Amino acid sequence: MISKRTQELLQADKEHVLHPWCIVGQNKGVVYEKAHGIYLVDTEGKEYIDFCSQLVCCNLGHRRQELIDAMTEAINKIDYVTCFFGHTHSYVIELSQKLSKLTPGDLNHFFYTCGGSESTDSAMKLARLYWSNKGLAGKHKIISLYNSYHGVAGLSTSACGLSSEIKNPFGPLLPGFILIPGYYNYRSMFGDVPDDGLMSARFLEKTIQAEGPESIAAFIAEPIMGAGGSIVPPPQWWPMVMEICKKYDVLLIVDEVMSGFARSGKMFASEHWNIQPDMMTIAKGLTNATLPFGAVVLSDKVYETLKDKSLPHGFTYCGHPIAAAVASAALDVYVRDKVAENAAKVGNHIRQRLEAEFLPLPCVGTIDGCGMFQAIELVNNKESKTPIDPEVLEELWQQLLDNGIFSRFEGQFSCQMQFCPPCVITIEEADKAIDIIQPLIAALRPK
Ligand code: PLP
Repeated sequence: MISKRTQELLQADKEHVLHPWCIVGQNKGVVYEKAHGIYLVDTEGKEYIDFCSQLVCCNLGHRRQELIDAMTEAINKIDYVTCFFGHTHSYVIELSQKLSKLTPGDLNHFFYTCGGSESTDSAMKLARLYWSNKGLAGKHKIISLYNSYHGVAGLSTSACGLSSEIKNPFGPLLPGFILIPGYYNYRSMFGDVPDDGLMSARFLEKTIQAEGPESIAAFIAEPIMGAGGSIVPPPQWWPMVMEICKKYDVLLIVDEVMSGFARSGKMFASEHWNIQPDMMTIAKGLTNATLPFGAVVLSDKVYETLKDKSLPHGFTYCGHPIAAAVASAALDVYVRDKVAENAAKVGNHIRQRLEAEFLPLPCVGTIDGCGMFQAIELVNNKESKTPIDPEVLEELWQQLLDNGIFSRFEGQFSCQMQFCPPCVITIEEADKAIDIIQPLIAALRPK
């Protein structure tokens, strides 16, 4: 029996709070009030292991003292100052210096935002500005992948390929966006023909040729698909894509909003393939989600074209000093504690357990991902591969919560259970969670 206070809070929540990706007027029946390390604590004092780092954003675990200290120190000195019109402050400068040492290749210049959608929208606008500054405004189209996720603002919604549900009620969307099939072999959009996963890269080239390279501004993709279900491309996919973008003078935007900051076992997932993009988008782990923050990272090439010309784009909170101070402290922790190495090590351990104890189960179709960025796909049965029934999934989600596991289901059919705990998790902590999760998945009966 839950307390009167919790009951009243839940009722008030139903009346006043609209929850994203939930039936309006409903909630999950739990009120969180505290957090520490890999744990969340509800108003009844019950603990939950955060096995998905919330929205795959609390990479350093919850309530890091270093971040609290940085925020407290900054807020005692300054609250807000704009970065518009050339104004600046020490927090954003110091953060940018640190970040440019960590971001791959010549990604050295930062346009700050308040989150992932603002970052991807800005990157696509900056790509168009780049071509416009070069006198090639006709290069305006953006290509992206089905099953990708890039956010919910104007351009990012148009570039999303995850599900029609994200787009159709909000149409008509922006013109100039082209979606092409991705590399998810388990559910290939090319049907039952043999697909080495590279059909998608070949399709990119054919699309650029068919549309005319003179009309294409950029190709945007996540290095590893996140909301699409932690899907790693085949080894040759990124090298092929890089070559195609270069060949046709199409800007390459790598969306590292979810995959960045140690998540995949590298500081940035781009490092797995040595991707040298023209722009990279970041958010989430940048501040460990302690404050809303993000950025578009520009290569020297893009920066040089934008330099000395007007930038008619920006958000009130661009480069917010308190968020910048927190991000700076978070970067120190990522480097000092070798968080990416831990994510790779514990990730390998999780993978072994997924292969040995989950993949043979009747309702586990496939597993994918790497590091702290893995997922199992739940199906009604292995032969039909039909996504597990939504009611079964809802019941499982509730059982996980009852057993103290905060989890998340993603992918085109919301049937990929993400194994994305904080990147600082220990093997013992991961085992504790997996020991709870495994019997619940094993109990699912095929249909
Ligand atoms: N891009 C990617 C790859 C994401 O995973 C997300 C969010 O999950 C976004 C963009 C949008 O970020 P936000 O929710 O902060 O707007």
